[in-house]
Amino acid sequence: MASTKVKGVVIASKDYKEKDRLVTLYTLENGKLSCIMRGVRGEKAKLKSAKELFSFGEYIIENTKSFNIITQVEVIDSFFGLTKDLDKFYEGCAILDIVNKISSQESDPQLFIELLKCLKTLCYDNVKRLYCVDKFLIRIFKELGYSFITDKCSSCKAGLSGKRYFNLDIGEMVCASCRNDTCQAVSDVCYSAMKLLSGMDYEKLSTLKIGGNGEVECFHLLEKNFEWRVGTRFTQIPLL
Ligand SMILES: [Zn+2]
Repeated sequence: MASTKVKGVVIASKDYKEKDRLVTLYTLENGKLSCIMRGVRGEKAKLKSAKELFSFGEYIIENTKSFNIITQVEVIDSFFGLTKDLDKFYEGCAILDIVNKISSQESDPQLFIELLKCLKTLCYDNVKRLYCVDKFLIRIFKELGYSFITDKCSSCKAGLSGKRYFNLDIGEMVCASCRNDTCQAVSDVCYSAMKLLSGMDYEKLSTLKIGGNGEVECFHLLEKNFEWRVGTRFTQIPLL
């Protein structure tokens, strides 16, 4: 039986059989990995805390023919605070689900680091709701090749001085002359939120104050864009 040591974050976790847990790890070394944790649901189980969502640690995995079995874990950070605050919890779950839906079994160190930075800020800093998930999505789209923080129409290259529109079909910003049925108007408040979030490091997000609920408008646009680009929605964040 071969065994591997990986650094990973639990991005999905569900009960399996009587006492086991089926865990999806997003790992630095191997991308997304489905694993089983045996007998972890008892109160005294040794690996108990490492099976929960957000748990970041070093996992030792035995690779059998049919399963990856986690046999040892050294938890580096459980991000426990995320389970104590409902708003943070929902936002955190959305972030994990985004990673689950865009990742494969290939290593992507940049995405791994981005995920950790984002969870750290969400858990420990006093950041307003949606700032973290908005920034995370903007970064993800940028990595996928969509950059919409721009002053040029992506279709005709004219300057975007007046109203700007988001073309969901191509995932980019266009001008009024290039807009079509799949475009939606982007307000100044929304665009300025996007620009601020994109330009600021996670470590400094707690100092940021966005006016006019720009982060909410921005979230709705990014959420819709995710659905168009990836073909599925991520876990919803209840917004009242
Ligand atoms: Zn144009």
